[in-house]
Amino acid sequence: MSNDILVVAELKDGQLKKSAHELLSVARKLAGELGGKAHAAVLGAGASGAAGELAEWGAESVLAGEAPAGALAAVRALAGAVASKQPRAVLFGVSAFSRDVAARLAARAGGALASDAIGLKAEGGGLQVVRPVCAGRAILTANHAGPGPLVATLRANSFEIAKPAAPGAGTVEALEVTAAEADLRVSVKEFVATKSERPELTEASIVVSGGRSLGSAEHFKVIYALADAMGAAAGASRAAVDAGYAPHAMQVGQTGKTVSPALYVACGISGAIQHLAGMRTSKYIVAINKDPNATIFKLADFGIVGDLFEVCPALAAEVKKLRG
Ligand SMILES: Cc1cc2nc3c(=O)[nH]c(=O)nc-3n(C[C@H](O)[C@H](O)[C@H](O)COP(=O)(O)OP(=O)(O)OC[C@H]3O[C@@H](n4cnc5c(N)ncnc54)[C@H](O)[C@@H]3O)c2cc1C
Repeated sequence: MSNDILVVAELKDGQLKKSAHELLSVARKLAGELGGKAHAAVLGAGASGAAGELAEWGAESVLAGEAPAGALAAVRALAGAVASKQPRAVLFGVSAFSRDVAARLAARAGGALASDAIGLKAEGGGLQVVRPVCAGRAILTANHAGPGPLVATLRANSFEIAKPAAPGAGTVEALEVTAAEADLRVSVKEFVATKSERPELTEASIVVSGGRSLGSAEHFKVIYALADAMGAAAGASRAAVDAGYAPHAMQVGQTGKTVSPALYVACGISGAIQHLAGMRTSKYIVAINKDPNATIFKLADFGIVGDLFEVCPALAAEVKKLRG
């Protein structure tokens, strides 16, 4: 095993996702602490185009595979990358792709998996990873000294993004991706992209979420108006999603998406443990609730006791004034 760190960057519509920059920032810092190098692997249409950007962001070498890769083909290709770089750690963002691939890669590489990490550093010659467990009620710190690499998925917005002082000039190598007949255990029938002008929920630096209290899909426009005024992504509680007020893609929580923005605004959300599991690591939490005893106020940094149908439009108007 070397002291190098391998980042698995993801693409959306041929462009690097924001998580790639966060992962490479972590990888460069870790590699610096360990005396190794940061590398990146990227798969799918647009990989070669994105490789230059990954090199600029400090990857000493970028392994790019243009061919579209299902989970099993991706695991095989990435196992090749691990065999060639022998990294101490392989870093993914938290995503549907990494849920499919990271554990398989860890098993194949004879390493260990740490999912949804919110902290990672070099410690005592090994790596120390920090991750929430028990639906966020406890924080686990674990040390990994090998054998095999630590494969970690990192929660978005949990690590500092730092561009290198000068653009890197890393090399680009082709990564072979081969699809085999045995891979076709799952066939994707349709890919329905959600059309939204708003930032991606899991990567947004501000999230405005609404709960059951909105009462209808029509009333959710109050949430969208505040989100748009703040340049935020819109989220929802499961109760709101189950009632059909918002699509499942917006659900935040244990059985929805995990978010960790700089600012989370919970509107008419009670603060059930399953909702908190998906947003409690947000840097600042603002809660708007008409019940002064709502559980969410125990976690919130700022609380507004009031009717969201009055507070949200007033807040949106003030934010618009401030942003000009
Ligand atoms: C296995 C399992 C998994 C789950 N996964 C998730 C998950 O991923 N995400 C999730 O969110 N939940 C999840 N839940 C459900 C969770 O337990 C709660 O039921 C849900 O979060 C409640 O949603 P809510 O806060 O919108 O609704 P409620 O609990 O009904 O709260 C509504 C809140 O709105 C306030 N309110 C009402 N009217 C207004 C108003 N006009 N202005 C301001 N405030 C108002 C009320 O005071 C209340 O606090 C899960 C449950 C289980 C059992």
